[in-house]
Amino acid sequence: MNFSSVRWQEETVANLKKNISENTFSHAVLFCGETASCINLAHACADGLLCEASSGEACGLCPSCAKTKIGSHPDKIVIRTDKASLGIDSVRDCINEMYIRPYSDTKKIFIFEEGSKLTKAAQNALLKILENPPDYGVIIIAVQKEEDLLPTVISRLKRYNLRIPTAVEVGRFLAEKYPEKREIAMFCGKFCEGRPFDAEELLNRDGDFDFRKRLVIFFNKLAGKEKSAVFDFANYIVERKNEFDTFVMYMQTILHDLILIKQGIKNDSIINSDMIPALSKLSEYLTSQMISKTTENLTEAKRRIQQNASFMLTINNFLLNTREVLHDRNSRSTI
Ligand SMILES: [Zn+2]
Repeated sequence: MNFSSVRWQEETVANLKKNISENTFSHAVLFCGETASCINLAHACADGLLCEASSGEACGLCPSCAKTKIGSHPDKIVIRTDKASLGIDSVRDCINEMYIRPYSDTKKIFIFEEGSKLTKAAQNALLKILENPPDYGVIIIAVQKEEDLLPTVISRLKRYNLRIPTAVEVGRFLAEKYPEKREIAMFCGKFCEGRPFDAEELLNRDGDFDFRKRLVIFFNKLAGKEKSAVFDFANYIVERKNEFDTFVMYMQTILHDLILIKQGIKNDSIINSDMIPALSKLSEYLTSQMISKTTENLTEAKRRIQQNASFMLTINNFLLNTREVLHDRNSRSTI
């Protein structure tokens, strides 16, 4: 892997490449930020360090790159686990392994992909090797937040905090990468608050986006007094019970946008930016009070479901309450 797969970290990447080509790369490095971005960066560094061209990043052509490409380089050890934590035994194994000289290169690299899983005992065991590693040893740790590691461990690592791109930057990047999904790319960037890998995963998940459109149609039907809409929509949600948390988040974003549109805001703050025309039309039927009340009802429905209340009853009640709110003359008169 080379650095071309790492985005929005130009300054960090330039520093790392320089350190690799000048052989000044630290023996203990911490990458802090979104997991997938940190892991990509760790692998790009390891492959660059092992590459025989020593140009700063993996050339992709030398015998060493041929091995890193297929994940079989004996001097690159990746530590990850399916378990909830990484204990002291894994760290002891790594330390023992580190004292065995590298097979083919002058470096032996250990990547802890999930540093946040290291137990306190495991971190304490790591301290010794971080203080006094063999010349060829490099340890790279990836964590989401600095607080996941002990201060004594942090102080022995060269730290890089990854820059978080803006939601709009992520949206634009996804729109370029997936032109056929351009319309929802910006929504994904905003919905995932700029976390690029989460946003891309959301973009490629099928079916979800349909719900936002259905929600707007449902609100329109309710505003138009269609009684059957409540039960049709209740059935639709009940059939997709497992996705309820995502639905709640989508509903919250739509209600959030409706409030902003009511206030005349139609800029980058709108999360569902691909649906502005439909939301603007819907907002004409609603008062800010109706939207706030529906948001409160939604929070209450979510709380009840978390407390194991009947799913179907709670959803039916929520939708009936929403209908009532939308036809409440008092809140209508206070537009
Ligand atoms: Zn190479």
